[in-house]
Amino acid sequence: MSETEGALPDRLARAITLAGPISLAQFMGAANAHYYATRDPLGTNGDFTTAPEISQMFGELIGLSLADQWDRAGRPAARYVELGPGRGTLAADALRAMAAAGCTPPVQFVETSPTLRAEQAKRVPHAEWAFDLVGVADDGALLVVANEFFDALPIRQLVKTPEGWRERLVACQDTLFLPIVGARGFDPIIPPHLRDAPIGSVLETAPAAVAIMRQLAKRIVAQGGCAIVIDYGYSGPAIGDTLQAVRGHGFVNPYDDPGEQDLTAHVDFATLAEAARAEDAVAYGPVEQGALLSALGIDARVQALSAKSPERADGLRADRDRLVDGEQMGSLFKAIAITSPGWPVPAGFA
Ligand code: SAH
Repeated sequence: MSETEGALPDRLARAITLAGPISLAQFMGAANAHYYATRDPLGTNGDFTTAPEISQMFGELIGLSLADQWDRAGRPAARYVELGPGRGTLAADALRAMAAAGCTPPVQFVETSPTLRAEQAKRVPHAEWAFDLVGVADDGALLVVANEFFDALPIRQLVKTPEGWRERLVACQDTLFLPIVGARGFDPIIPPHLRDAPIGSVLETAPAAVAIMRQLAKRIVAQGGCAIVIDYGYSGPAIGDTLQAVRGHGFVNPYDDPGEQDLTAHVDFATLAEAARAEDAVAYGPVEQGALLSALGIDARVQALSAKSPERADGLRADRDRLVDGEQMGSLFKAIAITSPGWPVPAGFA
């Protein structure tokens, strides 16, 4: 936004009044940048809860998978890199498990939010930070994790109207933001098999997610390494409006209160995997989170932790069910893995 004075809704309203409706991607990018910069949104007192905040087993199993990759790749000099680490919980659990497996890499977090950087420093004091992948060191292999990172990146929506495909824009009336459709036609860029979708259909694209995935894949190909990307989503491109806003653990209108609620969209894993392959990386999946955690040994982990602390057995079993069961997080959440050519197949992705 060119107008930098005042609260975000005022700035957005002013920009729209001056220059006309903005794209959904601009709206979502500005709203989420403000949202994450100004709060820790995670946990029961926040807006939403993520897998690593549910159970230490999540981070431990992801960490063990990375350590296993690194081991089978011949134990090269490597760095742990996490995109959007939230409170740093996943990293702390993963790094502890990796250390037990003999893997103690330096740590770099890609994080824009000062509030969350401070949270991350509490749990991983020796971490270093970068604002984007350009700031990530190029002196060794990369062991990369991204959990619920790609879903927070801005999307564009194209809407089928009686006049053809148009872009979703955000207009403003007084202080109310509302979705409209633009005047420009987008028919030529719609995949042929989706062009005849019914009026009202929505097709989403995630230019920022694709750009970051290409950049990540390029670095992994150049430096060696692997990435595990977990999020909720589908194998697209497909028709569907998945933009959602969450506040206080409930769904709210995504166009209300920009910057005060979490805006996300489902991740198109097929397109992300394609983006990685375009940079000559090897891409695996998507596999469902439940299947992945089962393959990585979550049931054995429940047993081992329960044997050590029998009073925790019921809680551990419930956490396992929440992460793995198809009716809970197990099916909607999926993972893809990216490796440089020559690195082994990641466990659970064969
Ligand atoms: N991975 C964590 C947190 C998920 S919330 C977990 O699983 O609990 C999304 C995270 O991505 C936050 O840390 C947020 O600050 C960060 N983030 C969002 N957009 C970003 C961007 N464009 N660049 C860097 N970090 C971003």
